[in-house]
Amino acid sequence: MKRNRLLTIVLALSVFLIPAAFSQEKADAGMVNRIWEEGVNRSKVMDTLSYLTDVIGPRIPGSPAMKKACEWAKDKFTEWGMANAAIEPCGEFGLGWANEYISVHMVEPTYASLLAYAKPWTLGTAGKIKGQPVLAIIRTKADIEKWRGKLKGAIVLTDPPRQVHPVFKPYARRYTDEDLKEIMETPIPLQPKDGGGEKPEIKWEELGEFYGNEGVALLVESSDGSRSDFGTVKVDAYEGMGKNHTLPGQSPRIVMAAEAYARICRILDLKVPVTLEAEVRSTIYDQDKMGYNVIAEIPGVDKKGEVVMLGGHIDSWAGGTGAVDDASGCAVAMEAIRILKALGVKPKRTIRAALWTGEEEGFYGSRGYVFTHFGDTDKETLKNPDWEAYEKNWRNPLADSKKLIVKPEYNKISGYFNYDNGSGRIRGIYIQENFQVRPIFEEWMKPLRDLGVTTIALQPTEGTDHLPFDYVGIPGFQFIQDPIDYFPTLHHTNQDIYDHCVPEDLVQSAVVMASFVYFTAMRDEMLPRKPLPIPIEVK
Ligand SMILES: [Zn+2]
Repeated sequence: MKRNRLLTIVLALSVFLIPAAFSQEKADAGMVNRIWEEGVNRSKVMDTLSYLTDVIGPRIPGSPAMKKACEWAKDKFTEWGMANAAIEPCGEFGLGWANEYISVHMVEPTYASLLAYAKPWTLGTAGKIKGQPVLAIIRTKADIEKWRGKLKGAIVLTDPPRQVHPVFKPYARRYTDEDLKEIMETPIPLQPKDGGGEKPEIKWEELGEFYGNEGVALLVESSDGSRSDFGTVKVDAYEGMGKNHTLPGQSPRIVMAAEAYARICRILDLKVPVTLEAEVRSTIYDQDKMGYNVIAEIPGVDKKGEVVMLGGHIDSWAGGTGAVDDASGCAVAMEAIRILKALGVKPKRTIRAALWTGEEEGFYGSRGYVFTHFGDTDKETLKNPDWEAYEKNWRNPLADSKKLIVKPEYNKISGYFNYDNGSGRIRGIYIQENFQVRPIFEEWMKPLRDLGVTTIALQPTEGTDHLPFDYVGIPGFQFIQDPIDYFPTLHHTNQDIYDHCVPEDLVQSAVVMASFVYFTAMRDEMLPRKPLPIPIEVK
């Protein structure tokens, strides 16, 4: 009886409350129509992508190519009529690096050109070198003792050969309804994920020092088995939790296609001598250790000082040309703001695009932007993150900080939208456990349904530049994108090139991103925020 009455009251209330709560959210379908018209008929997204990847190439922070990319993007923003286009420092990054040349061959027992890439931040060889490769798997202190004094001037194969297997399922896929349903399921996060993995017995710095002291001429790795084969080579550098770019003078190190590497090992097994010839030229840049983001705006006209941001990261690894990771994100964000500018919008809030640096090494650009503009904890958790502690305590990235110390800008940013999961079209958005944005985004997605944008996932997603915003309680989001062949083929490999981006998907993505950003800019209120576990102090 009592229960029924309560139910009646709840029902009666909801009749009043629900329409009121929803009335603020009106997705302006007319505006989506205009965004669509510009974005489909006069898209520049593939031109942007081509220039960043084909002409400029891979973009390691601190390299001449990265500098060129930032200048080009800034000029492009200005050409499109954006205000305040700037290259903005984001704090210290470390050493820059570029590979200028690599050539690797087997010359005995028969000739073969070998597919290999320089590992980021390694030095070049002492000119063209020639020698017998030695398979020396060093993982323990005992291994070090076994090989001490035996590797002077050697070409060292550092991994066991890896058998490749035929692939029976297609690499590329779109999310099915079933997949999207699964993404919507929210795991209750009581247990930490299996973070960290096994600790190696020898620290990478220690091993690097050993190779250096031994006078090793060249280190050769086999491409990682987490990526596909057929000449796909994974080329990144995460030793020491991504500290490669802070330590100069690492031995020349290359990574070779698994098939080529295994062939050398098989010949050695047959006790037939192998001779390799190799030359690597690379440069470490130590003059300017600062990191730089590219920023540009459409100024707001009404809500003075308030801002909505969008972006992707302009840095990349160097095996391919960083096309899906993440020139796609830059091209989409640039295109989204270009569309809005071309439509002559007068947003209430400022719309600000950001192309981040140093994402691959640990969100240097976005972290730097957040602690420079918005704030950091009393322990400077964002400025000096302890990644090991974070892996152990992933539910609480603010670690044991006592408070968040913020700047006035902190209370002026409505939200940040990121694009960095390949070149697959947008299927929805991860809302990072922010229950309050669901009804808002649901409304905004209604006119975008027929473009495949249907899914809101409450669960947080990791691994990219929305996180520093999210850590300090600023609504920061990454879109749900179709995976296509991001894994296992493209991510961080030599196949991360223009050719493997999907043009239709990038056009769709720019239209969706422009719509979300526009709605955020025009909303009466800023986006609602999640509560933080520590107090906030404005400085
Ligand atoms: Zn990325």
